[in-house]
Amino acid sequence: MLEKIRQLYRSRATTTLRSAVDFQMKFMLVYAACVHLGLAAISFYFSMPELGVYYLATLLLFVLFARFIDSKSFLLIYFLTYAEITFHLSLIHRLIGVSIAIELYYILLIPIGSYIFLMPYRRLFQVLFVCAALLLNIVSYSCVQMMNLDSGHILKVPMDTHTIFTIYCVISAFCMAALQSAFFIRSIVNRLSTIKGENITLSHRAHHDALTGLKNRYEMNIRLEHAFLDYKQRHIPCSVCIGDIDKFKNVNDTYGHTAGDYVLKAVADILQKNTRKNDAVGRWGGEEFILLMQGDKTACYDCAEKLRNIIANHTFSYNGRVIPVTITFGVASADSTMQEYINVLEAADALLYEGKKRGRNCTRM
Ligand code: GH3
Ligand code: MG
Ligand code: MG
Repeated sequence: MLEKIRQLYRSRATTTLRSAVDFQMKFMLVYAACVHLGLAAISFYFSMPELGVYYLATLLLFVLFARFIDSKSFLLIYFLTYAEITFHLSLIHRLIGVSIAIELYYILLIPIGSYIFLMPYRRLFQVLFVCAALLLNIVSYSCVQMMNLDSGHILKVPMDTHTIFTIYCVISAFCMAALQSAFFIRSIVNRLSTIKGENITLSHRAHHDALTGLKNRYEMNIRLEHAFLDYKQRHIPCSVCIGDIDKFKNVNDTYGHTAGDYVLKAVADILQKNTRKNDAVGRWGGEEFILLMQGDKTACYDCAEKLRNIIANHTFSYNGRVIPVTITFGVASADSTMQEYINVLEAADALLYEGKKRGRNCTRM
């Protein structure tokens, strides 16, 4: 799953996913600015102007981040945001003793937040980034602990302030973390399912013929290459049968191109329905079809003859007119004299040509 997400981030098709993440970052930063506005208000209300000023400053920082964030700077901004959160929570912990918020952020932001952001980067960079974030935590926490804050008036404020701050921090920590992960997961899952659907459609289009739905030449070439390799390495018989509709030009000329297309589709249907699942049937060219099977020449010849007879006896009727259709086949098998699969095709093609010369509507092997 993680490997798949990482690949998606790297691929070009993820521009939508990236813009979703960018949007999420902006949303998160504006949200952080709002939280700091609330904290500033509470600080001023309880006569803690220093803290209030700190919150207002960070509020401005978040607004600036949200304004200038782009796909290049987002990792730096993410790190700076993380630095602010770390310092902020260390401070809150020192002043008020709210440890739950710190732990929540520390636990959630590094492994979930950082890891998803860091997926497109190299492993070394990922490790360095997380180490830097951890170091930041330790330094920030230690620095704040060393500050002589006890002498200030902050710790002497009434218990009400502590409670309000605590609740506010915990709620905002939960909200931020929940928002962040929800957006991430939602955008990734949405995009994953769209990409999956698009991939299936595109892959089908790339390997199949649009008119007949049969495998296209590209796909058949791949299969022929594999079948020939199987013959060479494991002596699995490999036979090829090329079929060409007879006088098809006449069909187009007499009945029109749409009738010609109908004949092509109908012939393809017959070939598909009357061959076994393991045989591969494809459209090789205009009115040429190809059948690849794991059998010897005789088996392939028998199959071709069966198909030829079905086609010759089938009634092709288009717009109330019956179109006479026949097909000629050339059958060849891979043998020890052949160097590559092209040689099998050449042999089948030569036999097909021979069949045409001998009057068509026949199978040659
Ligand atoms: P032969 O018996 O020697 O094979 O004669 P033929 O007329 O079938 O051979 P030729 O190669 O001269 O003609 C093939 C025709 O097939 C020409 C071309 O216009 C037509 N064709 C190729 N692709 C398509 C297609 O997708 N749809 C239609 N309607 N016709 C097509
Ligand atoms: Mg032809
Ligand atoms: Mg033809």
